[in-house]
Amino acid sequence: MPPRQSSRLKKAIADTAASVSTPTNGTSKSKVANLKAELKATEGDIKGDVPSVTEDTKSSKKRKADKIEDEEEDDNEAGPVAEKPKAGKKRKTAKEKTEDLMALAKRTIISTLKRSMYIGAHVSSAGGVHNSINNAVHIGANAFALFLKSQRKWTNPPIAQEAVDGFQSLSKQHKFEVHKHCLPHGSYLVNLAQAEKEKADQAYNSFLDDLKRCESLGIKLYNFHPGNTNGDSRPAAIGRIAAQLNKAHKATSTVITVLENMAGQGNVIGSTFEDLRDIIELVEDKSRVGVCIDTCHAFAAGYDLRSPEAFEETVSKFNNIVGAKYLKAFHINDSKAPFDSHRDLHANIGTGFLGLRAFHNVMNHAAFQDMPMVLETPIDRKGPDGKTVEDKQIWADEIKLLESLIGMDPESDEFKALDKRLQEQGASERDKIQDQVDRKSAKDAKKAAPKKRGRKKAAASDEDSE
Ligand SMILES: [Zn+2]
Ligand SMILES: [Zn+2]
Repeated sequence: MPPRQSSRLKKAIADTAASVSTPTNGTSKSKVANLKAELKATEGDIKGDVPSVTEDTKSSKKRKADKIEDEEEDDNEAGPVAEKPKAGKKRKTAKEKTEDLMALAKRTIISTLKRSMYIGAHVSSAGGVHNSINNAVHIGANAFALFLKSQRKWTNPPIAQEAVDGFQSLSKQHKFEVHKHCLPHGSYLVNLAQAEKEKADQAYNSFLDDLKRCESLGIKLYNFHPGNTNGDSRPAAIGRIAAQLNKAHKATSTVITVLENMAGQGNVIGSTFEDLRDIIELVEDKSRVGVCIDTCHAFAAGYDLRSPEAFEETVSKFNNIVGAKYLKAFHINDSKAPFDSHRDLHANIGTGFLGLRAFHNVMNHAAFQDMPMVLETPIDRKGPDGKTVEDKQIWADEIKLLESLIGMDPESDEFKALDKRLQEQGASERDKIQDQVDRKSAKDAKKAAPKKRGRKKAAASDEDSE
């Protein structure tokens, strides 16, 4: 990081300090503290062994442009450190750059929380995996997920040494315990249940490559979707997943393969705790396998989390069927789709059918401490020019919201007001999806019994395509 950025930060601190009209203004004070911390981090960068993402040589630009091409995910924002060096791209204004450097929220010191909950989000790794650390710091995250390579391509260049070095030095500098609180997400292309030899090998190779990337980065947990039967029998497909895992475990040494629970029905594997149990049962080295619970997926798959009683019931179901020791991580998402609808539609925290009470249950459950909890909630907003922009402040705020639930009295006015506000915010979206789900079940019922269900006709007649 070049010195000019540090002088920009110093100026920002001076400006912010100057704008503090009342010295007792806590917000402004903490803003200054934030900036000071950021400046310290930036100066650390200059001294530290961090890949110089702002190198100005042509060849470096070309190399980095290639890397971004290859590693870019759906998230187009490169984050606060990596400037996107694509040729012809408009440079960021000084104001934009300063905004990028200012943390949207300060990371919470875990010891200040009543429970050690490590909450973060799935951040961008565009431009190299090392960028994910700064992107996590930017939103005040204490845990994070990332893609280790393009999740939509089969062939990817090997991980660059500068990205490995940068990842390690930045995680050290920002005191991230990446072996515990970083949870990479596997490629959407990989289906370990694949039966066709050639496709199965391709899936395995990509999977193994990711596991090796984890080990080179010092990451211990690796999350992936179990797979799809493609119409084959479930036991056969599950057998193939376990066989691939056994092979991958032998080819690596430390990384834990973490199965994610799913929302869907039919050919999807992992929507029931029984599926997860059956895979684990066939894994030889049980110390190398775990489970990540996505709250939205669980709810859509028929595992309720809303009331304290329902939450306890779901937790004990998991513990009895799968086993508490296999639980390693969480994806923290609300659901735009209603209970047991088997639709995977993530909503912002508190705005969906799960609601704030469900997250209060999760955040106050002692056994979930020290596990990475990763938001995958929507952050796209329409900008003033009508273009879709990512508003990372949403994640920064959701992290603080979740942390605030720890120890909060759910009967308090504070909780009730929060709950009400968020539910109002999500009302129209919930209504929309509820309507789609109702229409679909009406249609399915009609299909199942076309003659007896004549009265369903009215509901089904104005069916729209989903
Ligand atoms: Zn996932
Ligand atoms: Zn999902």
